[in-house]
Amino acid sequence: MGSTERIKNVAARVAKWHDAGHQIVVVPSAMSGETNRLIALAKEIMPQPDPRELDMIASTGEQVSVGLLAMALLAIGKDAVSYTGWQAGIRTDSAFTKARIQSIDDTRVRGDLDAGKIVIITGFQGMDEDGNISTLGRGGSDTSAVAIAAALKADECLIYTDVDGVYTTDPRVVTEARRLQKITFEEMLELASLGSKVLQTRSVEFAGNYQVPTRVLSSLTDPLMDLAEEASSGTLISFEEESNMEQAVISGIAFNRDEAKITVLGVPDKPGVAFHILGPIADANIEVDMIIQNQSVDGKTDFTFTVSRNDYVKAMNVLEGQKESLGATKVIGDAKVSKVSAVGVGMRSHVGVASQMFRTLSEEGINILMISTSEIKISVLIDEKYMELAVRALHKAFNLEQA
Ligand code: ASP
Ligand code: MG
Repeated sequence: MGSTERIKNVAARVAKWHDAGHQIVVVPSAMSGETNRLIALAKEIMPQPDPRELDMIASTGEQVSVGLLAMALLAIGKDAVSYTGWQAGIRTDSAFTKARIQSIDDTRVRGDLDAGKIVIITGFQGMDEDGNISTLGRGGSDTSAVAIAAALKADECLIYTDVDGVYTTDPRVVTEARRLQKITFEEMLELASLGSKVLQTRSVEFAGNYQVPTRVLSSLTDPLMDLAEEASSGTLISFEEESNMEQAVISGIAFNRDEAKITVLGVPDKPGVAFHILGPIADANIEVDMIIQNQSVDGKTDFTFTVSRNDYVKAMNVLEGQKESLGATKVIGDAKVSKVSAVGVGMRSHVGVASQMFRTLSEEGINILMISTSEIKISVLIDEKYMELAVRALHKAFNLEQA
């Protein structure tokens, strides 16, 4: 919601759904740019903000949104009431700035819904057991919405966002990218954790754990558009795999430009090597993604892993400091690598997906640096300069283009 004009639009859309006979809970996020503004303000006072106080500040953006939206509904004659996370019974743990929802007491909200009110609850926030305000991490209102939908056993959780659904890949890279009408929850989880910014990863986990049918759709459409049309727009995250033969083997190609690769050369191959390399990396709060340990030669091995490019320098410094004690000959790195992944539940029932992926890349002359797989995903690490080429070639090879 970028302006009061947009808030009035949201109110009109909500009223339309309510008029059609639905009980509605709305979970708005802060107005655009507001959370960033609040965090920047906090950092002017305290460059490493105290997490509890930061949540006190960052959570206020949503409080403004819910009040404004409730007013916009009242102004058009709808009965609406707004609540903060704690007023709506959202209990979290005390991990400020990245709290997890533990329970929701929906008594108050249910009462309002039964009385015909539209209930508006702040996204992104809750309260811990000591009564402190907590926030759920950036993009956390997605998770608030899915969690509230789960608690209320809602028919569907509609997530209105600035894209009109989940695509086979980023349309900015492949113009033929196609919007998926449905995606399984597991595929969505892989895509979210691979960096697709459509939904907060945790919200997808929540949708999966509580089987909340969740639909991603556009907030930029005409708020008064036909309700049935709106209700079937976007992408539905579903829980059954289609048994029909038409089901594509691959649902999407995901990519992450900003990877970095680090290799520790010539470490003695003995128990504890991986731990001694990755332990200090974890202690420095750096997340590791792909990992390879080579076959050892003469009792020595090389160990390679990837980190996000933002953490590259930090990780290199950590390992430089550990080099002696590891008995490593050298630490080398490459911060110009990208990860490209093919995701699809169809992989479970089709063989040869990996070989088709590798053939496609080889035909384009793209060298693969690392490979990792899961049951429904194959990822390769490649030179960043070939990333877009790889995505386009794979999108085509797996027939993901517009019909
Ligand atoms: N306002 C919060 C943020 O910017 C939560 C959200 O937008 O989902 O991260
Ligand atoms: Mg958001």
